[in-house]
Amino acid sequence: MGEARDPTPRTPGATPPLLEVRGLTKEFPVRSSRATLRAVDRLDLDLATGETVGLVGESGCGKSTAGRCCLRLIEPTAGTVRFAGVDLLALRGGDLRRFRRHLQYVFQDPYSSLNPRMRVAELIGEAIRVHRLRPKQQVRARIIELLDVVGLGPDALDRYPHEFSGGQRQRIGIARALAVEPRLIIADEPVSALDVSVQAQVLNLLTDLKQRFSLTYLFISHNLAVVRHISDRVAVMYLGRLVEEAPTATLFATPAHPYTRALLASEPIPDPSRRTIATPLAGEIPSGVAPPPGCCFHPRCPEALAECRHAVPTNTTLGAGHRVRCHLYARGG
Ligand code: SF4
Repeated sequence: MGEARDPTPRTPGATPPLLEVRGLTKEFPVRSSRATLRAVDRLDLDLATGETVGLVGESGCGKSTAGRCCLRLIEPTAGTVRFAGVDLLALRGGDLRRFRRHLQYVFQDPYSSLNPRMRVAELIGEAIRVHRLRPKQQVRARIIELLDVVGLGPDALDRYPHEFSGGQRQRIGIARALAVEPRLIIADEPVSALDVSVQAQVLNLLTDLKQRFSLTYLFISHNLAVVRHISDRVAVMYLGRLVEEAPTATLFATPAHPYTRALLASEPIPDPSRRTIATPLAGEIPSGVAPPPGCCFHPRCPEALAECRHAVPTNTTLGAGHRVRCHLYARGG
């Protein structure tokens, strides 16, 4: 059974989102077969200006692919991505390069995303020069300013990435993203490669920078505790699809989708306000090459109904900003 389109309704006169993703789909050909792997499946997602949205799910659920498609680091197969009203997927060449500075990506592993043969001054200064954001004679002072913003001193300027710790490298990656004065940062597991003690420092830095530079974040992570700490709203992905989204406090207090509840159970977080009983997540995430029909979570769902095997659930609104794709709620359950 096909899935009905369910675009997020917008209140007339409401401020349009800074980032508006509709029907985003990414398929990859599977080598030595004619099959395709659908990594992202008709994703709808909005980010309001100044908001931090956490995109969570197990490894392999398509969240990083979705983030990369939003910036066209990889090309989506279908869908639309609008940023400040501009259709990003329609931009080409120089227009795309110029526009893309408003959106930056911070990677999980800063070491692999920083050219090991470039000194920090070049790594950060490159984009400032390309986009002509400062007169030539002011670029070095601007780099020093950016290093200071992320908690590094000017002694970092002439050093190479391998001379820094993981946390320092991530700070350099963040400084490089900030160099082009973006409005939106997609942070893809930005702290998961770091020691726990360093994770908190980098998260606090990201929070400070958001206030200081009026940034908007899409924060991609498998770590619910981290997402809870930093996000205003959380969107949960499973097998390429968004299955639940809600304000952070609502999602953690009253998770509705059986998958969200299972995720929370598999990563216990002390929370006396949580009222639901969670079931631990069993089984493996299925392949996106041949996803289960109906609700793609049904083979792992402890609450599956007969219809879940063939009917794709559509969105049900449970409260302000709280939407879930699950037949339990379409029935009023
Ligand atoms: Fe479980 Fe059915 Fe809801 Fe899917 S739609 S999460 S299988 S109850």
